Amino acid sequence: MRVLITGAAGFIGSHLCERFLREGHEVIGMDNFLTGSPDNIAHLFENPDFTFLKYDVTNFIYVKGDLDLILHFACPASPVDYMNHPIHTMKVDSLGTLNTLGLAKAKGARYVFASTSEVYGNPTVHPQPETYWGNVNPLGPRSVYDEAKRFSEALTMAYHREHGIDVRIVRIFNTYGPRMRIDDGRVIPNFVSQALRGEDLTVYGDGSQTRSFCYIDDLVEGIYRVAMKEDIGGEVFNLGNPEEWSILDLAKLILDLTESPSRIKFVDRPEDDPDRRRPDITKAKKVLGWEPKVSLREGLERTIGWFRERVT
Ligand code: UDP
Repeated sequence: MRVLITGAAGFIGSHLCERFLREGHEVIGMDNFLTGSPDNIAHLFENPDFTFLKYDVTNFIYVKGDLDLILHFACPASPVDYMNHPIHTMKVDSLGTLNTLGLAKAKGARYVFASTSEVYGNPTVHPQPETYWGNVNPLGPRSVYDEAKRFSEALTMAYHREHGIDVRIVRIFNTYGPRMRIDDGRVIPNFVSQALRGEDLTVYGDGSQTRSFCYIDDLVEGIYRVAMKEDIGGEVFNLGNPEEWSILDLAKLILDLTESPSRIKFVDRPEDDPDRRRPDITKAKKVLGWEPKVSLREGLERTIGWFRERVT
């Protein structure tokens, strides 16, 4: 297949490029490096099946030749990043989604949209199944991300219903692994880099809020299955690891694994930070035969190894 991946130089995007190339597909990567980095894809340039276009997907997109599949993964994804770039975040998941869907229509390509567990907001249903409509503050600081992703889901479904485009939506829960930016502000890069530097780990609030962390290789396997399976047009899948951890326990585990002398410091909790998050992955298990295989301990060990070589 000839595949376009937007956000190709990002954390998830770069792993996806690698996976599609490994399976023998031709990959066109697109990124404007707002939060992604050329370092993530530098090693792919020697592969003749990889092409890269430095481009901002909020502008009209032209790609020469056929396309069989488009994966729209461009978007700042860390709360710190999307709050630093609120308008661009809204553009990439409105204009960018419109442009990539228009391209899918023009090329007759299948389309996969990278959505998020943030569409559930601060959930009142736990764990969250795909059928839950969410509890989002439309005015709060996270709304630039949450509402843009919700708009993109609606637009993706509109293209499916009106133009018959073969679309799939993945709602990605917290994911971690090598190639996360050390300073991206998310909890695992923060805690690991703080632990390796011997600085205090900044737990927001009392650390009783929960998240469920999926290792990147497991997530990529899930996305690959969603992209390749026949006859699931118009379907949405939660992808994430259902093992739920409090942020305080995560901090303790990272201190343990890094053998760090760091201590835990409790600081103010950001506004609208969801209290609990855990995916119900019944649908992905049943339809895709997918479930995560890498435990948090094992995934963190690999991630810490990668960070160790880079944290200064
Ligand atoms: N968090 C924390 N300390 C940090 C960074 C994050 O305690 O240095 C908490 C944050 O309040 C949230 C959880 O960790 O409850 C996950 O935050 P992250 O930014 O990774 O992503 P989110 O799941 O909120 O999108």
